[in-house]
Amino acid sequence: MISDLKALLKEEFGFENPEIKLLAGYFNLNYLIIHQGEKFILKTYRFDSEYRDVLQAENEVLLQLANQKITGIPRPIHFSDGQFLLQRQLEGKPSIIRMLSYLEGEFLGSVPASKATYKSLGSFVAKLNLGLSTCKNYVLRSRQLDWDIQYLHLNKPLIAAIGDAKNQNLVRYFFLQFGENVSPILPSLRRQIIHGDANEWNILVQNDVISGIIDFGDLTYSPLINEVAIALTYSFYDKENPLEWTADFLNAYHQIIPLESKELEILYYLIAARLCISVCQSAHARKVDPKNNYASISEKSAWSTLRKWVAINPIGAANTFKKAVNLPISETPSLESQLQRRHQSISPLLSISYKKPLSVTGAAFQYMYESNGTAVLDAYNNIPHVGHSHPKVVEAGQRQMAKLNTNTRYLYDLLAEYSEKLLAKFHPSLSKVYFVNCGSSASDLAIRMAFAHTKNPNILVMEHGYHGNTQISIDISDYKFNNKKGLGQKSNILKAPIPDTYLGKHKINDGTAGKLYAQDAMQVIHDSGKTVGAFITEPIVGCGGQVPLAEGYLQHLYPAIRAQGGICISDEVQTGFGRVGDYFWGYEAQGVIPDMVVLGKPMGNGHPMGAVVCTEAVADSFSKGVEFFSSFGGNPVSCAVGISVLEVIEEEKLQENARIVGNHYASFFRELQKEFAVIGDVRGAGLFLGVEIVKAGKSDHDSELATLIKNEMRNRNILISTDGPFDNVLKTKPPLCFTKENAEEVAENMREILKEKF
Ligand code: PMP
Repeated sequence: MISDLKALLKEEFGFENPEIKLLAGYFNLNYLIIHQGEKFILKTYRFDSEYRDVLQAENEVLLQLANQKITGIPRPIHFSDGQFLLQRQLEGKPSIIRMLSYLEGEFLGSVPASKATYKSLGSFVAKLNLGLSTCKNYVLRSRQLDWDIQYLHLNKPLIAAIGDAKNQNLVRYFFLQFGENVSPILPSLRRQIIHGDANEWNILVQNDVISGIIDFGDLTYSPLINEVAIALTYSFYDKENPLEWTADFLNAYHQIIPLESKELEILYYLIAARLCISVCQSAHARKVDPKNNYASISEKSAWSTLRKWVAINPIGAANTFKKAVNLPISETPSLESQLQRRHQSISPLLSISYKKPLSVTGAAFQYMYESNGTAVLDAYNNIPHVGHSHPKVVEAGQRQMAKLNTNTRYLYDLLAEYSEKLLAKFHPSLSKVYFVNCGSSASDLAIRMAFAHTKNPNILVMEHGYHGNTQISIDISDYKFNNKKGLGQKSNILKAPIPDTYLGKHKINDGTAGKLYAQDAMQVIHDSGKTVGAFITEPIVGCGGQVPLAEGYLQHLYPAIRAQGGICISDEVQTGFGRVGDYFWGYEAQGVIPDMVVLGKPMGNGHPMGAVVCTEAVADSFSKGVEFFSSFGGNPVSCAVGISVLEVIEEEKLQENARIVGNHYASFFRELQKEFAVIGDVRGAGLFLGVEIVKAGKSDHDSELATLIKNEMRNRNILISTDGPFDNVLKTKPPLCFTKENAEEVAENMREILKEKF
């Protein structure tokens, strides 16, 4: 090759024995030519007639820019025939050759950039865009590059090349957001020819000032704001707080080309889109050619920026961008006015969390976005089990809603498919499922079914237990009927003392306490002079203050309940679907198999779903009664959503994540327990934990302090809650995509709060 080039350079330019160095390049070959101290760039391409038109267009644009005296851009150099492209055989293959002037400077990516550099970059890119705005070229207008943000969708098939499912789904999330937030306004954006690749390895710096830009191979006719998005994307790679680095660039750009509010409102999504393109292209390139390192040069930075990006509130980002250019920020109604409006139609009986309520406009995975622009870490909500707005779940629902939504009186495959997939998660003896729309209806139905089976209306329930808001669910919920304002315990309800090994009377949690508590429960039945038809409990009593049943409790109690003619129900509304880490269902930790299981909350990741799973025998008894029908239970949309939730748990290994992150999380709290005597107990399993707050060194509850910690955490943009009979147990049960870093952040903030207090 070099000898071919030497001959060419001699023939065309009369260069005698120039120095020729191969440079890095994405898909063509670039050479540095040094002749008598003067430097040039020679670019060679495989011949392609369509691409020749593009190269021709690129040269024309560069010449038009040079005519406008735009500095810091390469200048095309003509060959002996006066043309700027040369067609020639290189190594026996038809090729296209270009010669460009050489630009001095260091790459932005290779120098520690200061804020002054970003200011300079803003002005430089704006001046370049001003120059490009007068360029017309119909070849470039018709280009559809997959690196061009407006054609993000071209990258969709490449998502599959990304190895890790969590990463794939993060990218899918931003594709979805692009469709929601950018696509509708794309047609109304101002467009022009843009450089299209102002990345840190195409930009040259000299003494903190941008001196040039190279590689016009991505010239395209695109919304102008895409140029800004691309330049910003690369400028804050590897920065701890990306947003901090945007203001100088934007302000400087805006002084030359004023930016519009609607452009800045979507900039967050455009930057995310460019990051997504980058990771899709890297993954694809690695798949096609595992040895091509150049293609994945920025992959690591792109991923880490994308992960930081999702923790930023899009409204907060837009506000930062607008502030940088002195554009007004859209005002949101005050919390007071929102509360007032709400209470005009909604009773205050529906309580609102935290002293300072949250007004939310969006959420993504383990983050929630407040209308004021703040992002909060959600360490509390277990309904968005696989993550808020999870793209697979959203898409499954959207797709099915656009296709068919009906009820179980018709035949559709999704009902059978979901039932099979859900039941596969249970012991074969639990072989029938009834779908409803929430945990309350599931509890209600379970009790009705139990009665149909045993004909015995008496039910043994758990002290402090909660199972829902229907009349039957309240009847079996000590947490409700025993409340100061509750209606009291009905005559058919018996209550088992909570098998709590921290505060309760039996404390040796090696099976001893479990057995004794089971005996106590049977004593309650015995003392009543009755038998029970059913026994219902959660495996970790949530409203009781995240109290795990003492070890061995159900192993002793279930057989005794069955022996006196009752059936055993596990309420897995909180603990199911992998949350407890070691097991998919909470009861498995107790080594038992219930006769019925109640499901809810996480089942649809926020889409309202509930179910009762039971044995054939229970189902048979229920079948002898009146028809069961739920208008919405088991509808095709819910089934599609339910399937997607199961798939995401599987592909993102979320049960394992709950176990690993949960163990770290608990160990962080146990460290805090050593430091602060007000932490009496740390308990739970996986990502379902409780931290009991007590008067220092005693086991007396301190609800005031627990409430203070909860609200202080909220003020620090972290959501946890309190529960338990004295409301003194800090409760955390985040979406299962929660990371170890998130767990550490929660524990560290709690440490700071406690340090301030003690
Ligand atoms: N069972 C348990 C254990 C619950 O925590 C809840 C809700 N908090 C329910 C049942 C009732 O579920 P839903 O609110 O969906 O009706």
